[in-house]
Amino acid sequence: MRAAVITRVDSPWELRDVPDPTPGPGQVVLRVHASGMCFSDVLVHHGRWPVPLPVVPGHEPVGEIVALGPGVTRLRVGDRVGVSWLQHGEGRCKECQSGHPLYCPQGQTWIDLGGGNSEYMLAWESGCTLLPDGISYLDATSAFCAGFTSMSGLRNADPKPGDRVAVLGVGGLGHMAVQFSAALGLETLVITNSPDKVRYAKELGAHDGILAGDDPGKALADAGGADIVLCTTTSAKQVAQVLSGLRYAGRLVTMGMTGPVQFEDMTTLLFKQCSIKGSTHNSRGDLVEVLDLIAAGKVKPRVEAYPFEKINDVRERVEAGTVRYRAAIDYSLS
Ligand SMILES: [Zn+2]
Ligand SMILES: [Zn+2]
Repeated sequence: MRAAVITRVDSPWELRDVPDPTPGPGQVVLRVHASGMCFSDVLVHHGRWPVPLPVVPGHEPVGEIVALGPGVTRLRVGDRVGVSWLQHGEGRCKECQSGHPLYCPQGQTWIDLGGGNSEYMLAWESGCTLLPDGISYLDATSAFCAGFTSMSGLRNADPKPGDRVAVLGVGGLGHMAVQFSAALGLETLVITNSPDKVRYAKELGAHDGILAGDDPGKALADAGGADIVLCTTTSAKQVAQVLSGLRYAGRLVTMGMTGPVQFEDMTTLLFKQCSIKGSTHNSRGDLVEVLDLIAAGKVKPRVEAYPFEKINDVRERVEAGTVRYRAAIDYSLS
């Protein structure tokens, strides 16, 4: 089968033939129909997220089950599924025993089995989530990392009726977070550097938009503040600054920043009793909720589709921030 392989950091991904996978006990093989690209793929590409090489990247894969390993009982050949980053806990640690295999220290991921930038992909049955009827493969890609992360971030902030939510950054994650917050009936605004993205966010359901300027925290405070700030930006500086825009008992959830962060506004943190949380893929239920919202037409991901042969160009577009708003390999275009 054809696969895109990272062999060295900072080098183009090699498109080459590799052996077809064979499923072991508890595993399946899917024919990949589409595979989304994420900023964390860029981090792996540059060695800023250390991963043993060579590796086939791709952690937003969706496709059709074509082979079952021994002992697979839940999935069937022909099922439409996507595969999560974390697929399988070893089962005996405290996290697995308490029903949180996502936090298993020996969890198996695409790094162990190979990711979705290949014609066929090996996956654990436990890592596959069925796609509901009515969702296209292309739209479904965005659920498995961008959507999952954004929904987990929102749920992690424990939104209450009447809360005001500010989404910092309108990109792959942010354009989903805005729609989730609005779909839940929460007053939703965006903070961005781009007037175009303010307009676009309003089309997605945002009630208002704020230009970040030099200080997104001041800009948010001047606009009345927020109970929840969902930070989807990679900028640690902006994440630190936006703290100042929180209201009393506000919650800042950061899910995309890359690099050290230094919070300087202790007044807001202490006197307003605010909290700061990190978040990724927290609970499988968040992913299922995202898939259902997309299938019901209540949330619409914007996904640019590219043929497999363009994968290095796609990665460069993701790194340059020119994708609107998620990019995916669509194997039907090759
Ligand atoms: Zn991702
Ligand atoms: Zn475990």
